[in-house]
Amino acid sequence: MRHGDPRNGHRYRQLCGWAKATFAWACVYCGRPIPRGHAQGGLGCTLAHRIPVSVAPELALSRHNVEGLAHRACNSRAGNRMPAPRPQSRDW
Ligand SMILES: [Zn+2]
Repeated sequence: MRHGDPRNGHRYRQLCGWAKATFAWACVYCGRPIPRGHAQGGLGCTLAHRIPVSVAPELALSRHNVEGLAHRACNSRAGNRMPAPRPQSRDW
């Protein structure tokens, strides 16, 4: 099955470079600064997507889907969270 993670590719690294030059170095989830340079583990810099990559892999490389920068730990925590469906949306 050819279904690799799009975040492993050359284009994704280019997108990361663009995001790091564009957005503030603050986590979009917790608001705390992201350390530049060599950061390991949960403090590493990742891209925060508006629509999670797990939901829409085809949008992983789209600049329009980049919310900003985020800690790796915060991003993975929020990674699979989707907006809750509205409870009153069952009027048919
Ligand atoms: Zn954070």
